[in-house]
Amino acid sequence: MESISVFDMLSIGVGPSSSHTLGPWRAALRWIEELKERKQFAEVRGIKVDLYGSLSLTGKGHATDIAVMLGLTGFDPVTFPIENIEKEIDFITSENKLKLNNELNVPFIPKENIIFNRKFLEFHPNGMTFTATLQNGSKKSSSFYSIGGGFTVKEERKNKKLKQDKFAKFPFPIQNGAELAAYCKAENKSISEIVLENEKSLRSETEINEGLKKIWDVMLDSMYVGTHTEGILPGGLNVTRRAFDMNKNLIGEHTYNGADEWIAAIRNTKVHFRQILKWVSCFALAVNEVNASLGRVVTAPTNGSAGVIPAVMLYYMVIENHDANFEDVRKFLLTAGEIGSIFKKGATISAAMGGCQAEIGVSSSMAAGALCELMGGTPDQCLMASEIAMEHHLGLTCDPIAGLVQIPCIERNAMGAIKAINACEMALDSDPAKAKVPLDKVIATMWETAKDMTSKYKETSEGGLAVQVNISDC
Ligand code: SF4
Repeated sequence: MESISVFDMLSIGVGPSSSHTLGPWRAALRWIEELKERKQFAEVRGIKVDLYGSLSLTGKGHATDIAVMLGLTGFDPVTFPIENIEKEIDFITSENKLKLNNELNVPFIPKENIIFNRKFLEFHPNGMTFTATLQNGSKKSSSFYSIGGGFTVKEERKNKKLKQDKFAKFPFPIQNGAELAAYCKAENKSISEIVLENEKSLRSETEINEGLKKIWDVMLDSMYVGTHTEGILPGGLNVTRRAFDMNKNLIGEHTYNGADEWIAAIRNTKVHFRQILKWVSCFALAVNEVNASLGRVVTAPTNGSAGVIPAVMLYYMVIENHDANFEDVRKFLLTAGEIGSIFKKGATISAAMGGCQAEIGVSSSMAAGALCELMGGTPDQCLMASEIAMEHHLGLTCDPIAGLVQIPCIERNAMGAIKAINACEMALDSDPAKAKVPLDKVIATMWETAKDMTSKYKETSEGGLAVQVNISDC
C-alpha cells in the first residue's frame, strides 16, 4: 500500500503548473543528486533535456523549460526568490552557459539543449530525459516522470518502494474512503485526528504544526498578493488580473495594512449571498493569478487548482467563524490532504492522466470534506461532501488555451471552491447512510472516465477551448 503524507499532498512551490513546472524542476534536482551519487557530476561537459508528450505540448505555456533550467542550476522551488527568475534565465540565455547546481559551468543554449518532442513515452504522458555528456565523451541518460502534484517518479518506481517502507509505520494505513471511515468509527476520532496520528509517526507534533503553519502562510500570502496586484498576466493571452478590482469593490472604505488586518477588514464588510460568492471567487482567482505569473503558491493538490483550498478555508474564517484560529486551519489541511491522497491512490491527480476532474475536481472534493469537518460534520458526512463535490466534476476536461494555466483554469478555481461549499452544506443536511454513491465509487468512476477520455483533453491543448479560441482572439 502506498502511504502519502499530508506534506506530500500540500507542498510549497512555484507556478504555473505542479506537473509541468514543479515536477520538472524537482526532476532536474533529482538528476543532479543521481550524478553526484554516481560520481559523474564533476565530469559533466554538456547537458541535453528531452521533454515528451504533454510536457512538450504545453511545456512552453507551463514554463517547463524555465523550471528545468532553475532546477539544473540547483535552486530550491520552495525558497528560491521568484523575483529573481527573470535574472537567472536571462543569464543563461545571454551567456549560453548554465552553472550546474551552482557549481559547474557547462555550455547551454536553451533552444538547442531543451528539446520539445511531440511523442509520448509509454510509462506516463509527462516524461523527460536528462542526458549528460561526460569528459570522456560518453553519454549518461536518466528519465523521470512528473505524475501530478509535483510528484516525480522513475519508471522502476524505486521511490515508491522506498516510500512504502518509510510509511509502513503509519498506525492507520488508509487506502480508500471506506478504510478511513472505519478507523474514525473504531477510534471515535475525526478525520483530522486520525490523520494527525499518522503524521505523528513521521515527525513531532511541533514539526507538524510548523509545517502546516508555513503552508497556510503561503496560501494566505498568495491570496493577499493576488488581491493586491493589478495588470495583465504574462504569456501573451492578455488576461487581465481580476482579483484586484474585486477586492477593491468588496472591501469598500475599510482600511488595513497586511494580511491579518485584511482578514479583520473583510469580517467587517456587509455580506449577503452575492458578496459571499464574490469573496470566495476573489480569493480563488487571486491565488491562480499569482500562480499564472510564476508566483509562489501551495500545490493543493496541483498548482492549476491551487486556489480552491485556500479560498474555502478563508471563506470559513471570514464568513462562517470569525473566531477561527490555527487549530481550525490545522484540522482543515489535515483532512483535505488525506482526501487528496485517497484520490491519488485510487485514481490520479494528474491532468495529463485524467483531465481537469483530476485537478479542480479533486481540490473541490478535498475542500468540501475539510470544510465539513470544521462545520461540525461527522466523518461520514465529510466523506459524503467530498463525494458530492467530485460527482459534479466528473468528466471535466483539461484544455488550457495556448497551454497557459489561465483560461479556463483561473475561473475554474472559483467554481471548484463554490461547489465545495455547496457540497459541504448538502452533506451537512444529509444522512450519509442513505447516500447512493460512496466516495470510493466516485473515485473509481473518475478513474474509469479518465481512462476513456481522449488525450486531446488531457493537458495537451489539442482540443476543447484550446482549439476553439486562438491566441490572436485574446
Ligand atoms: S484546465 Fe484544469 S487541469 Fe487543465 S491546466 Fe487548467 S486547471 Fe489544470
